[in-house]
Amino acid sequence: MGVPQTIDVGSHVWLEDSELAWVDGIVFSVTGHDVEVQTSDGRTVVAKFSALHPRDAESRAGGVDDMTNLHYLNEAEVLHNLATRFQIDEIYTYTGNILIAVNPFQALPHLYEPAVMKRYKEAKMGEQAPHVFTIADIAYRAMITEGKSNSILVSGESGAGKTETTKNLMCYLAYLGGNSAAEGQTIEQQVLESNPVLEAFGNAKTARNNNSSRFGKFVEIQFDNVGRISGAAIRTYLLERSRVCQISDPERNYHCFYLLCAAPKEEIEKYKLGDPKSFHYLNQSNCYQLVGVNDANNYLATRRAMDVVGISEEEQEAIFRVVAAILHLGNIDFGNNEGDPESSVLKDDDSKFHLDMTAQLLRCDPESLEDALCKRKMITPDDVIKKSLDISGAIISRDGLAKTIYSRLFDWLVDKINVSIGQDPKSKCLIGVLDIYGFESFESNSFEQLCINYTNEKLQQHFNQHVFKSEQAEYTKEEIDWRYIEFVDNQDVLSLIEKKTGGIIALLDEACLVPKSTHETFAQKLYQTFKDHKRFIKPKLARSEFTIVHYAGEVLYQSEQFLDKNKDYVVPEHQNLLSASQCSFIQRLFPSLSEETSKPSKFSSIGSRFKLQLQQLMEILNSTDPHFIRCVKPNHVLKPSIFENLYVMQQLRSGGVLEAIRIKCAGYPAHKTFEEFLNRYNIIAPEMGITRVFLKGNQMAELDAQRARI
Ligand code: ATP
Ligand code: MG
Repeated sequence: MGVPQTIDVGSHVWLEDSELAWVDGIVFSVTGHDVEVQTSDGRTVVAKFSALHPRDAESRAGGVDDMTNLHYLNEAEVLHNLATRFQIDEIYTYTGNILIAVNPFQALPHLYEPAVMKRYKEAKMGEQAPHVFTIADIAYRAMITEGKSNSILVSGESGAGKTETTKNLMCYLAYLGGNSAAEGQTIEQQVLESNPVLEAFGNAKTARNNNSSRFGKFVEIQFDNVGRISGAAIRTYLLERSRVCQISDPERNYHCFYLLCAAPKEEIEKYKLGDPKSFHYLNQSNCYQLVGVNDANNYLATRRAMDVVGISEEEQEAIFRVVAAILHLGNIDFGNNEGDPESSVLKDDDSKFHLDMTAQLLRCDPESLEDALCKRKMITPDDVIKKSLDISGAIISRDGLAKTIYSRLFDWLVDKINVSIGQDPKSKCLIGVLDIYGFESFESNSFEQLCINYTNEKLQQHFNQHVFKSEQAEYTKEEIDWRYIEFVDNQDVLSLIEKKTGGIIALLDEACLVPKSTHETFAQKLYQTFKDHKRFIKPKLARSEFTIVHYAGEVLYQSEQFLDKNKDYVVPEHQNLLSASQCSFIQRLFPSLSEETSKPSKFSSIGSRFKLQLQQLMEILNSTDPHFIRCVKPNHVLKPSIFENLYVMQQLRSGGVLEAIRIKCAGYPAHKTFEEFLNRYNIIAPEMGITRVFLKGNQMAELDAQRARI
């Protein structure tokens, strides 16, 4: 964004501020490079030009619907416009064709009721206030008229409102493409009801969101040739496995565990459940209940949603039996085997009870379960022996089993929903809706953050290319020369991570294959390979940490658990135990190894698989016309009416909104119709297109300064 060189005494400006991001003020005097500003909160501040932006003193009360209509397109004006609108519950604003949605943290039912859908369906372009429905409507109409697939990409950080936005989009698409004449369960109902099912098993309360999706999701809604929904496919990405056995205050485990503990009495008795506080996998945190959420009702609602999506009564029984088994599994504890510190035994009678319950629910033999938890087969040159695990080894084994069972259960649910809704092989058009985790940078960042930020780099590239292309198209239409616009690409970060040979993912796979490697040798390899890479930094004195310079900022990664987390490996003892279960549902979650050993054994890594999934996703996205929704979280406290400027600013930056504006500013950010332009500047006369006047970064401010002088 350009530096305003035309700021003069009397100019209205925004002044950079460490607390409020930007404060408004008026220039009092200018001495060389120093500008004295009197702020509206009564301070006199001396600042450099670079800390100032021109402010539109004539800005409309209530803000503007589309930020590209802002008189000055700079980040201070953008922020001010969003804040102004948020205060009057106008949570949606466009930046060109990008929709920004600020989470209201309060129910605004008047925005989504059926009458509103009707209004948006019948409205002409630009008639209605900005809305998610407009985006869905544009995507749908474009699909019908052009016969081309469309996608809607929803992004934002945790708690910003992606999942709620996605649900609103899906409701509106179901409304447009629904088949009211159909009998029984309609496809659109199944598509909508897949949400509560996936949320029960894939969402949890975290410190940042009471209903945080712990997986990424791409829903592909297929339409027939008259625009009716005819099928759907759901793809999910990277479910957070560690949550199943490890949580910290004030977070919770996946919702389904609490729902089941609040199930009707018969079920509680059948599964020998009870107070969530009695289970190790739940009582590592003090949070059991969510304000305003009734787990007992939600249990029944989840069962009803499962009915709708086509999960049979027997399957539902098996699913919740497995959920109960995981809770009991977590309560199996281990103690020292007297006389042999290298091995472990069940700690006490209580552990024996939970072992028996787990075995009973998983329909397997309790002794085999105990062996699978505490012993490992070792192949020596002469023999195959069984070696006992020590206490910590047995605990790792137990938690590994819990995570594996849970992630297989989740994948089963997704497959089942897909089979049950069904795909329409004849469908030529689809609308894809992507609800995926935003950029993450915490105090401690591990392998998951790398995958998440890698995803965001990919989507950011897609976004930039699109914004850039559509901006160019506008110039071409107006016959304006645009060749000089420089386009900053993030391909170099992407290569750093994903390059087939020598990228971080490839080096990690290599490290996983070499028996002696550790996170330290892996980090050393990174330091060596990328010592001159401008997107990679080795922090001073670091032995295993590394920094990547992402488009949204630097992130410091700790590599300690990278190798373990990358290994996609099920212990053969666990595999054998469960593939021999008497329950066919569980057997199917663990297809017998003999089927797999017929294939040549190949190392499979989470990182490479994820990279492949991401490539496939990008292929689909590239074949569609994209629409972007950027969700913004207005505050850290998840409360209505609070707008934290700096926090919002940071999200606009990492969400690429400011980058989109930068791309606009690199060209001609101000596109005014001749009429608008002449009204304001009829006294001074710049480059004119066919229907609009195009102005560079500072020209608007320059004109205002000249106008003020006349
Ligand atoms: P995560 O990445 O953690 O999954 P998210 O971006 O999907 O986060 P949501 O779960 O959609 O966030 O939203 C968080 C909460 O914010 C919701 O549970 C809801 O309370 C509130 N919220 C979000 N959008 C809206 C909305 N449009 N109207 C009312 N409340 C909303
Ligand atoms: Mg979500």
